[in-house]
Amino acid sequence: MYEIRQAGTKGLGVFAKVFIPRGTRIFSERPLLAIRPDQGAGDIYAAFRLLPLEQRTKLLQLSSHITKESSVARWTQVIWWTVKRSVFDVYARIWGNHRGMPARSKHSIKEHIAILNVFRSNCFDIGSSQASIQQAIFPRISRMNHSCVPNAQGNFHDEMGRFNVHATRDIKAGKELTLNYLPEHGAVKATRQSRLLSGYGFLCDCPACDLTLLRGRDGEEKRLQAHRKLSAYAEGLSNGGLGSAEAELQTIEEFMRLFEGEGIAGRELSTMYFEAAKLNMGLGRREEALRCAEKGLEIDRDCLSTDHPLYQHGVATVQELKKSFT
Ligand SMILES: [Zn+2]
Repeated sequence: MYEIRQAGTKGLGVFAKVFIPRGTRIFSERPLLAIRPDQGAGDIYAAFRLLPLEQRTKLLQLSSHITKESSVARWTQVIWWTVKRSVFDVYARIWGNHRGMPARSKHSIKEHIAILNVFRSNCFDIGSSQASIQQAIFPRISRMNHSCVPNAQGNFHDEMGRFNVHATRDIKAGKELTLNYLPEHGAVKATRQSRLLSGYGFLCDCPACDLTLLRGRDGEEKRLQAHRKLSAYAEGLSNGGLGSAEAELQTIEEFMRLFEGEGIAGRELSTMYFEAAKLNMGLGRREEALRCAEKGLEIDRDCLSTDHPLYQHGVATVQELKKSFT
């Protein structure tokens, strides 16, 4: 269905070999390396050392974008971890634990930094508070490049222990498969570029970032408009007003129009549809509420698939709304 090959200046990328219809599960992978919410830099390296040689080699082959800022941060993390480990070694010696830990050579510190760079450049934030893992690297999914207007989305399925990537649009053969590395807040180009540069060390040149084209300028204007609406709504709240459901609904609808206009159709959009359903219900517009919830469910079916608990949750919401008609 796909192939991994050179993607110009971006290094390797993943490309559709055939037409991929929206909703197709393109990848379903277990993490190669993962950390839980309570783990940090030291645990990444410890987990890496436990991997079989073949997987360690695979990991080190992934690209790492090193910015000056992140490189300093990595050194600090590694040095701190090394200090912690040395203290542990001293305690181990005092208490007669002869198994101890081997002294850390300069080489292993270098390898540790390389791993942290690879991890931070390729990891995905699993994000959800329920997930047992916080960040992870996946062997093939990590090859997917970024786009601010992606054609695929990855969501973690905690029970399966897998990160599933689905096509959020119909994708023509030969097209590159992309994911959004940033959380989608409808941010303008300057904000996105600065986050990508500091976090991943590159600037994006996707269609939404090309402001020489009408398509890019139009999207940028819609993003500004959505944020103006959000600011006005937030201002209303901070001025002591409770914020009417109508104003909240209009703000959400502005973002929905933005995402749909940009072709962004993942969880960010379905969540908004479900939110709009709730608000419409509160305003007594049952038919509109049901339409919104059904639309949200349709998007979830495509970006999560029917085996995901969040999809099942959406089914229950729609059924609940339908019951209110009887
Ligand atoms: Zn972009």
